[in-house]
Amino acid sequence: MTDHRLLDIQRLDTEAEQLRHRHATLPERDALAEAQAERSRLEALIAGLAASRLDVATRQKRFEDEAQIFATKADEDDKRLYSGEVGMKDLQPLQDEIAGLRDRQAELEDRALEAMEEAESLAGEQAATEAALHDIEDRITALEAELAASETEVDGLLADVVAARDEARAEVDGADLAEYDRLRPGLGSSTVVRFDGGNCVGCPSTMPAVELDRMKHAESGAVLNCSECGRIVIT
Ligand SMILES: [Zn+2]
Repeated sequence: MTDHRLLDIQRLDTEAEQLRHRHATLPERDALAEAQAERSRLEALIAGLAASRLDVATRQKRFEDEAQIFATKADEDDKRLYSGEVGMKDLQPLQDEIAGLRDRQAELEDRALEAMEEAESLAGEQAATEAALHDIEDRITALEAELAASETEVDGLLADVVAARDEARAEVDGADLAEYDRLRPGLGSSTVVRFDGGNCVGCPSTMPAVELDRMKHAESGAVLNCSECGRIVIT
């Protein structure tokens, strides 16, 4: 049994895969995506509130304008009533008309007031939502910085591992390297195994006697393939 650079390469490749996985699954990235989704939700909410406020303001203005029309008409009738130009028999009908106009005016003014209260409530809701949006934007900025810092850290570790892996590869025979590269996609982190003196440690089954004999008689550090599982066995 011996150390072999292929085992180092395998270990470093596995470490690099783990670091790439870590990079891809940094918890800050999920937290950031959640915060961004919340920002979109709040932005849509604010747009909806602004549209509602515009509707309500338009409604309020319409009620006020209509109330003003009835007020103007009632004022004109008032003037006629006190002008002395209206005959006795027309007085009561005119007073009734004025009362009707004032009722309608009051009703419209009430509705304008309701609309104004609704507008105030919507404005309050919008201000609160804008404050929440501001908070989430601060959180997004902080998470972006945290994510960038974590990515930089993982990238730094990965660069070291890749450099060590490349250094190890430079020391290994080209044919052995090609064999490792061919097998690695299928066998992963146990592409290269040690011969434990009795078996290929990658195999669940017992090594046939002939195979065992071949392994035992190979020179130390030889790179062989297990006839059972195809793994590279370092004797
Ligand atoms: Zn095997």
